[in-house]
Amino acid sequence: MEKIELIRGDITRMEVGAVVNAANSSLLGGGGVDGAIHRAGGPEILEACKQIRAASGKCPTGQAVITTAGKMPAQRVIHTVGPIWGQQSETESDRLLANCYRNSLALAVQHKLTSVAFPNISTGVYGFPKERAAKVAIRAVTEFLSADNSIKQLYFVCFDEENFNLYESLLLKTNN
Ligand code: ADP
Repeated sequence: MEKIELIRGDITRMEVGAVVNAANSSLLGGGGVDGAIHRAGGPEILEACKQIRAASGKCPTGQAVITTAGKMPAQRVIHTVGPIWGQQSETESDRLLANCYRNSLALAVQHKLTSVAFPNISTGVYGFPKERAAKVAIRAVTEFLSADNSIKQLYFVCFDEENFNLYESLLLKTNN
């Protein structure tokens, strides 16, 4: 899938239509990539999240919402809530994680954003097994992109070496 690119690094530096945040359902910020995005983008992002909270309440697992990217080079941030490993059955966790990728991409399409960068959702504090998460992520985005013409570029931005190596070998298999 030539629209998919693998990157090792910090997602807050990506110049894309949308950077996806692995948020929690409160939308009020947290650690990991969520903390990094709020720090890099500044208080405008939290302000926008608070408005969404006030209007619509918490964001359910697997769903996504969109805000400004504040001071980051990206145009927007899409906040999605990954499943916490162990809180549902394994197949339900897979389904919810796939929903994160699908719903984030659908939101990007709705907002006419043609490039999207994803972190490795749920594989940090939320404890989703990394290889399992990578397989779910690659499958969900590949299916989405094969049915969509508006997203031109999708980046998997891996912060840690383990995820990067996993994606590298899994994407190779997908291409061959
Ligand atoms: P979750 O709660 O969904 O598990 P985390 O933020 O704890 O979210 O971890 C998700 C992934 O984000 C992890 O693989 C972690 O290494 C990665 N990560 C942390 N900081 C950054 C960053 N600045 N850019 C990209 N990925 C990051």
